[in-house]
Amino acid sequence: MKYQSTRGQVKNIPFKQAVMMGLAEDGGLLLPETIPQLTPGDLDALAMLAYPELAFQVMSYFIEDIPAAKLKDMIDRSYASFTNPDITPVVHKDGLYILELFHGPTLAFKDVALQFLGNLFEYLLAESGEHMNIIGATSGDTGSAAIYGVRGKKNIKIFILHPHKKVSAVQELQMTTVTDANVFNLAIEGTFDDGQQIVKEIFGDLEFKKQHALGAVNSINWARVLAQVVYYFYAWGQVRKQTGADKVYFSVPTGNFGDIFAGYIAKRMGLPIEKLVLATNANNILSRFVNDGDYSTGDVHPTFSPSMDIQNASNLERYLFYLFNENSERLASAMRQFSETGQLSFTDEQIAEINEIFLATSVNNDQTLATIRDFHKATGYVLDPHTATGIKAGKDLSGGEYPVICLATAHPAKFPDAVNQATGKDPERPASLEGLEERERRCETIDASTDTVKSYLAENAL
Ligand SMILES: *Cc1c(COP(=O)(O)O)cnc(C)c1O
Repeated sequence: MKYQSTRGQVKNIPFKQAVMMGLAEDGGLLLPETIPQLTPGDLDALAMLAYPELAFQVMSYFIEDIPAAKLKDMIDRSYASFTNPDITPVVHKDGLYILELFHGPTLAFKDVALQFLGNLFEYLLAESGEHMNIIGATSGDTGSAAIYGVRGKKNIKIFILHPHKKVSAVQELQMTTVTDANVFNLAIEGTFDDGQQIVKEIFGDLEFKKQHALGAVNSINWARVLAQVVYYFYAWGQVRKQTGADKVYFSVPTGNFGDIFAGYIAKRMGLPIEKLVLATNANNILSRFVNDGDYSTGDVHPTFSPSMDIQNASNLERYLFYLFNENSERLASAMRQFSETGQLSFTDEQIAEINEIFLATSVNNDQTLATIRDFHKATGYVLDPHTATGIKAGKDLSGGEYPVICLATAHPAKFPDAVNQATGKDPERPASLEGLEERERRCETIDASTDTVKSYLAENAL
């Protein structure tokens, strides 16, 4: 399997190179040159497998340049860190199937991809004799999942910028209590946007980037999408076993379009997904795209589901590539237009094509709390606010003909304030958060200045 850029200037590169490149060198996103097509017999065989074996089979369709035993070992180690024996169990509540993706070390679905990516980076760097300094800005979830993905790994250091005092208490503690020598938490005196801007400027200094072998872990890396394709197969297999139904709906709380795009790939591989339901919070650029063909950015509104407070869904470019019939010139010109005007619009014909696959709705703060409250009353099960948006969307849009699988993207204990407001009680804390407040911490507070961060990097990078 070879990889190509959505924008057409990078072609025919192997998986390993695609992983190390991250963002394609022409500014596009990397995709496999073809999507493997599975037969019903293949699907039946996959449905029998435990999670790590399934991950190995699914990933093997896309990876030809890593020996099978090595890949298998990486996958096994990645999911050994999950506390549930099923890795991503499916539970049946209130007529819905909840795919719990939060049993990894930081209690959010990003662990599924980043535990694997950390091992993959370590393997590729050992093989090439190179090293890497990862730098990223976080508003909470991605930073902690990335830190846990690479903590203690050889030939990698990670520098994560978070806005000082502006991430949730649990998120801050999850990051700063990791005291491995290769992990650097930088609390910047500014906002998340300041952090992102600093990282962007640092990556823009190509000489500095090269000199310090800087790398990124954001959701544009193909390996992250690939690791997420796996649990669509897994959940489908579990629900088919329980219900006998072949076709299913998935409902996915969405920010950057990464998670739901993995579902789209699974569907294109032949997994019988009837529809993918896309849930946004009040930051509804993606539901406007699906419903009205209007993809236009606005201001970011803070909500109860902060990991979805996004107004520019970086992974959408991957889907647009397919919507434009794999015409990279058309895609590149659309992306240019978007970066100049902040706006793209789509024809009725295109909207109809999008709606063949995706349905969407936006769920506001009040509806999010009401969903957590009602679901808790009805079932005793506590949803996190991100998951709640997907539950509401799944219930409203599914029509009842097929089983609906809702992706639970975070453990409720990560967002105790919203949960308490909805149910009157703090969510139960899983073991990984026990005694978090008492643990040793490591974090430096620094100015929100690109030069300050650069000199910190120059001093501490590998
Ligand atoms: C990142 C995140 C999302 C959004 O995922 P995308 O891949 O950006 O669509 C949803 N829920 C939680 C808890 C997250 O951390």
